[in-house]
Amino acid sequence: MAEWEAVIGLEVHVQLQTRSKIFCACSTRFGDPPNTNVCPVCLGLPGALPVLNQAAVEMAMKAALALNCRINRFSRLARKNYFYPDLPKGYQISQYEQPLAEHGYLMVEGPAGPNRASETPAVQKRIGLTRVHLEDDAGKSIHDGFADSARNSYVDLNRSGTPLIEIVSDPDIRSPQEAYDYLTRLKEIMLFLGVSDCNMEEGSLRCDANVSVRPRGAERFGVKIEVKNLNSFRFLKQALEYEIDRQIAALEDGGTLTQETRLWNTDEQRTLGMRTKEFAHDYRYFPEPDLMPLIVSEEWEERVRAGLPELPEARRERFRAQYGLREYDAGVLTVSRPLADYYEEVAGVCGDPRAAANWVQGDLLGALNAAGKDITESTVSAQHLGELVRLIGEGAISGKIAKTVFEKMLAGGQTPQEIIAAEGLAQISDASALEKVVAEVIAASPKQVEQFRAGKQEVLRYFVGQIMKATRGRANPALVNQLLKKHLV
Ligand code: ADP
Ligand code: ZN
Ligand code: MG
Repeated sequence: MAEWEAVIGLEVHVQLQTRSKIFCACSTRFGDPPNTNVCPVCLGLPGALPVLNQAAVEMAMKAALALNCRINRFSRLARKNYFYPDLPKGYQISQYEQPLAEHGYLMVEGPAGPNRASETPAVQKRIGLTRVHLEDDAGKSIHDGFADSARNSYVDLNRSGTPLIEIVSDPDIRSPQEAYDYLTRLKEIMLFLGVSDCNMEEGSLRCDANVSVRPRGAERFGVKIEVKNLNSFRFLKQALEYEIDRQIAALEDGGTLTQETRLWNTDEQRTLGMRTKEFAHDYRYFPEPDLMPLIVSEEWEERVRAGLPELPEARRERFRAQYGLREYDAGVLTVSRPLADYYEEVAGVCGDPRAAANWVQGDLLGALNAAGKDITESTVSAQHLGELVRLIGEGAISGKIAKTVFEKMLAGGQTPQEIIAAEGLAQISDASALEKVVAEVIAASPKQVEQFRAGKQEVLRYFVGQIMKATRGRANPALVNQLLKKHLV
């Protein structure tokens, strides 16, 4: 492997979260009964005329700007002709020669980035973006696969006409991990922008990978293989690892590769040939005659740019500077905008950003993961978690008791104060109340008292343990130590 280098470029499709489709007023809702959100335009009936959805254009512009692209003042929609049962028009409306945006880039961590949970600062690497263009999605073919009965195919055209952007990277990616990181960053940015839910299972984020290998140091690229059917981040990485090994093995065997499209087969954990270049489609692109060219004025572009939210990279940087978080923690807490917002609210309420980070990352995300929930579905509000962390800081409860209170908060609704009051969990910091318990414990342990007085310091822990047991963990530890010393010597 040392002598070979992989070259990878990704083509990513992102469904835009507009309410209506890109060329008609039909709803884009996922999961509605098949073929209920359709009209003559998205069914491709003759004579129906498309009208470009402005909201889709703005979302695409947001994405392009966040990806550091240059927006073209003038771009065109074009017909890409091919036949497929889920493509009722017989062509897709896409952009070809003059896309909406070009010449962007995306920064990913180099070999020591936060994804590797490393303490060393990340080396940033720039991945060029060739273009971002607008297009419409096809419908969905559904095949039922009963082995013995006749196989039927169905088509659901609800998705037909959903707005998409295609984001094409330059061949700048050099490893499966880098491809994974690139997609991770890309998804984060889309989520922060709110232009897509990027749900891979529902197909709102889709990725095709182009990969070749070349001798390390060579200038020319090798033969490009396109890999499709990558339905998760993990599959992307696995498929690339497999494909790189396969290509190297073929070349080392003295063979040659032909440009082709292959499919990742999850069951067999390998890629299988689908079509070679000779069978590649000739799409016969031509400008869409039913739509005007897309003109983006400078003012429009500036208006969209001014509305961009703080992006993940900038927010990570601010979390480090403003809250003193480690790079890794800042990375985890900015994975999504709702999570970053949640964290900032907790930090604001408790006034201790580091403690807030620990609670959000550890206890809260742990509980949410276990329940298969998203931060937006958290039963503990940021306000309540912030109050819990504040109570620990104020010494009203111990860190250990706080875990118990948190468990109860997960059931939902109650404030930490309510739970502490109802369960009698408040920390005992009243010296006279504690003194009684200390005296009782000492009286009940003459042997340990003797040991302590003989110089065995470790017995102190035994006494602390007994007092904690007697107070169900509610005794103020500092006060307990102070009182024990007073009464034992
Ligand atoms: P096509 O004309 O087949 O669509 P493009 O040149 O437009 O090919 O590239 C499509 C994708 O493939 C881009 O993401 C690009 O970065 C990537 N790519 C191009 N050439 C190679 C190569 N030799 N090896 C790996 N990826 C490549
Ligand atoms: Zn429609
Ligand atoms: Mg191309």
